[in-house]
Amino acid sequence: MKQKNINKSRRKLLTRTLRYATVGLISAGTAGAVIKRRRLRREGKCLNRGICKNCAVFEDCGLPRALSVRQATKGCNHG
Ligand code: SF4
Repeated sequence: MKQKNINKSRRKLLTRTLRYATVGLISAGTAGAVIKRRRLRREGKCLNRGICKNCAVFEDCGLPRALSVRQATKGCNHG
């Protein structure tokens, strides 16, 4: 009985440890992505390898490529 409880509590500890490690990794990855994005914007570098069409910051982007795409698609209503 005692051994069963020990195994059960070890399993719980392992499960919790893995859960919190996973949450930590996801949080660290998200924070890293946000920091990288901010740094690139501050440095005036493209965030999306020059693919403006689906870029999240297209509306606010002031980089030459985005300005050019905006100019080229001005008045275009098909996508
Ligand atoms: S809108 Fe275009 S130029 Fe601006 S960050 Fe996005 S992909 Fe790069």
